[in-house]
Amino acid sequence: MQESQLRVSSAIAGEDEYVEFWPAGTLAKGQFSCTACGNRVTVHQVLPRCMVCGERLWERADWSPFARTD
Ligand SMILES: [Zn+2]
Repeated sequence: MQESQLRVSSAIAGEDEYVEFWPAGTLAKGQFSCTACGNRVTVHQVLPRCMVCGERLWERADWSPFARTD
């Protein structure tokens, strides 16, 4: 039982610090936010460039507790 408790806490700590960037053109689904201006888009197939500032790097937004806008 102690072992599984350790795993859970380390997974939570890792998720907190882990930020993955997704470049435009990547196949992806879900909510992403622009790393430059924070513009949020819902992607169904391929990541676009940011239509607000032209940035090409995105980070996933669906994991964020602030992403619940609907
Ligand atoms: Zn942007």
